[in-house]
Amino acid sequence: MNNSPAPHIILALLWVFLQYQPAGAGEPKSRYVTLRYDDKRVLREFNDKLIIGRKLSAMMRTKNVETVEDEVLAKVDIIMEKVQVVLDMFPDKLHITLVVLPDAGDVADMYKKKYGKKQKNIAYYSLSENTIYISADDTRLRVLAHEVGHAVADQYFEVRPPYKIHELMAQFAERHVTD
Ligand SMILES: [Zn+2]
Repeated sequence: MNNSPAPHIILALLWVFLQYQPAGAGEPKSRYVTLRYDDKRVLREFNDKLIIGRKLSAMMRTKNVETVEDEVLAKVDIIMEKVQVVLDMFPDKLHITLVVLPDAGDVADMYKKKYGKKQKNIAYYSLSENTIYISADDTRLRVLAHEVGHAVADQYFEVRPPYKIHELMAQFAERHVTD
């Protein structure tokens, strides 16, 4: 017999502690991105489809990549960096949330829930939430670069430019991300 608490009590306390982690404590984060997804398979599909090409891949070598999450965060950070260079806009404290959903139907459902409108989208950037929603099924570098273009432009300007200008900048980012 000794006075140390029984192992099951320690486990119970640990369990209670883990239940009371602040919300979002488990969300993987990098310099520019907080990542959200429900299903590891969906994240893996997103990662497989996000082919960033030789030039951008060369920037990966310096990064520590062990898990799929690490790889996704590293790639998205590189895209965020490249789009800033392409647009020549470097917002202070640039950070977005990236929500990876299974397919375009889920993206449309999310859009409808937030805005009450039906819209066919494989990805969109929510200005009010600083969040990119993207369909893993339809992921391509250019699709993500376009939405990152919206995010960078949005966080750069204090006064939001007209929608058409915003869209032009996003298209420019999309076109030149592989330059
Ligand atoms: Zn757009």
